[in-house]
Amino acid sequence: MNQPRDLQREFYEMLMESQHWLPETMLEYQRSQLAQLLRHARANVPFYERRLDPVFTASGDIDWDRWHEIPIVKRSDLFERRHEMLAKRVPKGHGDVSTISSSGSTGLPIQVTSNRLTTIAANANRWRAHRWHGLDWSRTYTARDRLNPEADWPHGQQLGPWGPPGDAEAVAGRWFLLSRRATAEQTLEFLGRTGSSYFSSGPKTLHAMGLEAERLGVAVKLDWVMTQGEPAEEEDRRVIKRAFGANTLEHYGSKEGGQIAAPCPDGGGMHINAESILVEIIDAQGRPCPPGQPGRVIITPFVSTAQPLIRYDQGDIARLGVACRCGRCLPVLEAIEGRAMAMFTHPDGRTVARLLTDDARAALNCSFWQIAQVGPLDFEVRYVLRDQARAADEPAAASIFRSIYFSDARVRFVVRDSIPLTPAGKHIEYVNEWTTR
Ligand SMILES: [Zn+2]
Repeated sequence: MNQPRDLQREFYEMLMESQHWLPETMLEYQRSQLAQLLRHARANVPFYERRLDPVFTASGDIDWDRWHEIPIVKRSDLFERRHEMLAKRVPKGHGDVSTISSSGSTGLPIQVTSNRLTTIAANANRWRAHRWHGLDWSRTYTARDRLNPEADWPHGQQLGPWGPPGDAEAVAGRWFLLSRRATAEQTLEFLGRTGSSYFSSGPKTLHAMGLEAERLGVAVKLDWVMTQGEPAEEEDRRVIKRAFGANTLEHYGSKEGGQIAAPCPDGGGMHINAESILVEIIDAQGRPCPPGQPGRVIITPFVSTAQPLIRYDQGDIARLGVACRCGRCLPVLEAIEGRAMAMFTHPDGRTVARLLTDDARAALNCSFWQIAQVGPLDFEVRYVLRDQARAADEPAAASIFRSIYFSDARVRFVVRDSIPLTPAGKHIEYVNEWTTR
């Protein structure tokens, strides 16, 4: 009985060992996973019927040297060719299929169909990150979740333990879902009442909630907050630490790719969950980027068999790092520099996807901001003042801006009361309103 839980536990236990595998062992494992995925996709998914031809030899073997010839799957494919991308059948044991919708940061609505194994992989990778950072599964964890009426304040929805099945300590853990309908004040009250040590939400929501806790004079003590869905920036982490005393654990993942990477507790980068997903960083010509060079993040999750994504452009820009000093052999992402809409262009053809640095934020004395390209050389920085009593040094911020992006950029500053969220509740910091018009 309870076979799914055993599989869940086995995979988690494997991850705790495989993080120390030598690179050649990992490569062998990845190729065996990829080979199964490719054969399944070619046989059962119309979208991939011919797309994978470059890597299949006449005898049906896989030529890994030609991997880079497989065309990149775009987000628009998920939208326009969704039905062709669904598997006519899913391999035995891969389990129940379910579909989630995402309006995403680009506003292009997509649906992603997953199966039970993708959930198992995501859980196990999350637990491994918890272990790295010393989280205690016997304590209380609250997740700010969907608009689920069962999870409305004041009761929330109580689920079982949130740690791995079979872990003796985790049995005592309590896990609550709290609906997004709860206000900041209600959420703070809930966290205090349930004695939550851990809380997960988006980094901007947590940042705003931290400021609200300070404004209301509500003292809520948390050990960690877990974030996903958008980058947690230095300013977010600083406010979260100040308001809640909490460290920020950023999971890098997506609805399409599941858990992609998690921060190393010892090194400065994020370790890729290499047992579950292949991550490639490629340049504009499609060539692999060496460590340190920013490129597009291309993912291939191994167990997404209901809707395989083989070389899918995740829409992010990141840099690979060198081997980590912590002793774990998992590959490293040194930094995730920008999201899809953060690609700014110059009339001469140059493109830049970088974050505007913290010194610009300090110069502007701002909490939230949005940086938009609004013309060929025109940019607008919309920002919310952190402290009304202090003036912003816009010329200083403009000169930092020009040093990071384009020396001839024209920058306009606009003070706002708040930065509106997208319908999906996301805060978009970098947006190109010019070339995407
Ligand atoms: Zn490490």
